[in-house]
Amino acid sequence: MLNPFVFRTDQAVVTLGRIFGAPVKIQGWSWLPVNQLVTLALFTWQSLQRRAGWPLGKHLLLGAARMSVFLGSEWCHNLAHVAAARAVGQPVDGLRIYAGMPILLYDQPEHPSITPRQHILRSAAGPLCNVCLLALSRLFQRATRPGSPAREVADTAAGMNAFIVSGALLPVAEFDGGPVAKWSLAARGVPAARAARILRRANQALGLGLAGAALAALRRRRGWMALLYLLLGAICLVNGLRSGSNPAPQPAETRGYLVERR
Ligand SMILES: [Zn+2]
Repeated sequence: MLNPFVFRTDQAVVTLGRIFGAPVKIQGWSWLPVNQLVTLALFTWQSLQRRAGWPLGKHLLLGAARMSVFLGSEWCHNLAHVAAARAVGQPVDGLRIYAGMPILLYDQPEHPSITPRQHILRSAAGPLCNVCLLALSRLFQRATRPGSPAREVADTAAGMNAFIVSGALLPVAEFDGGPVAKWSLAARGVPAARAARILRRANQALGLGLAGAALAALRRRRGWMALLYLLLGAICLVNGLRSGSNPAPQPAETRGYLVERR
């Protein structure tokens, strides 16, 4: 199946400009901010349910504020990767805007010239940025009144950044935690095959732990939390049960591109 994130060969790629040195690219109508529109509609609908007396403009404003911090957290995550990649001297080859969201493009993500330290810094910058945003959101939560619209925006920011940090740091190859763990082991001289084995076991253990956490959350009737743990646990288990020490080879049309998670 053709990877929808990879540029089509029959359509021009337009470069809009550069962010931290990386060309920002779009193709056709694939850049249309679908994620922004869907998220705005969802948050506005939630506001309509919770605050019946408000005019529509106010609902839209709150929806837009929550959408901005929700999707902005993901944008900041990726821009932190771009900035760190440039700072360590291994810049990304581009940033594609797809459905309103950024996708990082690497021609050769595992190029032999990239040192373990550069790999680690490049990958860790994204989650580290969300840790800082999470801390800021917590301060914002403390400064706002429970039940107020401002608190709702702060809760959205805190929830999204906590979600990105916990998801991104899973030791899964396609996420940031995978490369950080893999290259940390490589930097300590652990052979690739053994490192892959260690990561598989870590994923299995984490997957089982998260499944247990999902059950515990379900018992406490925290459905959303249970679903989240279950999702993250399933990702870990699938990764932990992958056979072979190397990731499956990528199909020809995606080779050379590391498509950012989420
Ligand atoms: Zn990332």
